[in-house]
Amino acid sequence: MSKTPSRSTPQAIRGTQDIFGADAEAFAFVVETFERVRKLYRFRRVEMPVFEKTEVFARSIGETTDIVSKEMYTFEDRGGDSLTLRPEFTAGIARAFLTNGWQQHAPLKLATHGPIFRYERPQKGRYRQFHQIDAEIVGAAEPQADVELLAFADQLLKELGIAGVTLHLNTLGDGDSREAWRAALVEHFRAVRGELSEDSQERLEKNPLRILDSKDRRDRAFVADAPKIDQFLSDDARAFFEAVTSGLDAAGVKWTRADGLVRGLDYYRHTAFEFIPDEGSEAASKLGSQSTVLGGGRYDGLMESLGGAPTPAVGWAAGIERLAMLVGEPTESSSDLIVVVEDDTRLTEAFGLMRSVREQGFSAELIAEGSNRKRFDKAKKKPHDVIVSLQQNMGHSVSHENSDAPVLQAIKPYA
Ligand code: ATP
Ligand code: MG
Repeated sequence: MSKTPSRSTPQAIRGTQDIFGADAEAFAFVVETFERVRKLYRFRRVEMPVFEKTEVFARSIGETTDIVSKEMYTFEDRGGDSLTLRPEFTAGIARAFLTNGWQQHAPLKLATHGPIFRYERPQKGRYRQFHQIDAEIVGAAEPQADVELLAFADQLLKELGIAGVTLHLNTLGDGDSREAWRAALVEHFRAVRGELSEDSQERLEKNPLRILDSKDRRDRAFVADAPKIDQFLSDDARAFFEAVTSGLDAAGVKWTRADGLVRGLDYYRHTAFEFIPDEGSEAASKLGSQSTVLGGGRYDGLMESLGGAPTPAVGWAAGIERLAMLVGEPTESSSDLIVVVEDDTRLTEAFGLMRSVREQGFSAELIAEGSNRKRFDKAKKKPHDVIVSLQQNMGHSVSHENSDAPVLQAIKPYA
């Protein structure tokens, strides 16, 4: 008999998830597909620390961004250093590129995945510990890197079976274009300053581009008629963007121009993009208000903010949970073989059989607990190709619906 615990059981931390069952299968499917496709594109795996010195994020993402100003899990360790649980991969990868001398491998195509931490208000599709897949091309200045990276994202979504999601593409121009655009935006928004949300009034001074990213209804009207980047693009920046878009067309990647799209972080230049569910699509209804599944862009200015030499780079990240919500219910996978032990003296034989079948590359499950008479019925209820039941007096039975089941070859003496 279990006794009532004297103290109540601790609860999980708000915004974290215990992922199990169909959700866990969908999660694994996303990661496995990412791993498979990144190999097709020849991206190399990299494993990154979950925490970094706080300045890695503060300096590269930007002090005025939501992430750095409100969302980071920052703490002092026992040695008195300020550390932060990674709120994204890119800054840590940039730090690693500089501290390890990875310049020698440039251009370097990297892929990774794992937990990410942001102190946000938890809701459907938004957590405090979530997971990302991430792809970066570091040390590549040419627009073909952007094309390669986006083709990877596009193929990944296709292979996940996700439909009704479109690539929204913009350019933020080079440094000069961005500055001119910024000045025009400040002028535009200053004229209506009092009517903007409090957050956007603050953004006006620090980073007006970010007002375009505002989700606040009060800002929407003024965002809609704000000056567009196209008026301010230098010839170089325009040529760069045209090379990206014609490359995408050639690679068969569908895209749509979104001239109001900006990314929340300071380090972006040139290409910026998000994959967003189409309005009214099934994907949109599954995700609710958390709409962006994959986002990224070119971050040519980032390495310098970490004290490195100018290093052009482009990358994206996608939330595994949000992708998993779109891949639908995976069908429960079935065992190639279930071995039922109806006579306990035959357990050792069952172990041998299981081992041999698995070594031949088939999945196998053992049922040898509970009442002997009920074991076979239990097996029948589980998805399977073949059941071998070991009975008294060295007898056995084999049941299957398909006499071509490949595992039958592997259990010849029984079949
Ligand atoms: P959002 O606008 O939804 O806050 P973001 O611009 O902050 O997204 P990024 O920093 O670009 O997101 O992160 C890339 C991806 O990570 C997002 O497109 C989304 O799929 C996922 N993501 C971001 N924040 C969360 C979160 N709190 N919980 C779950 N997934 C998230
Ligand atoms: Mg966010």
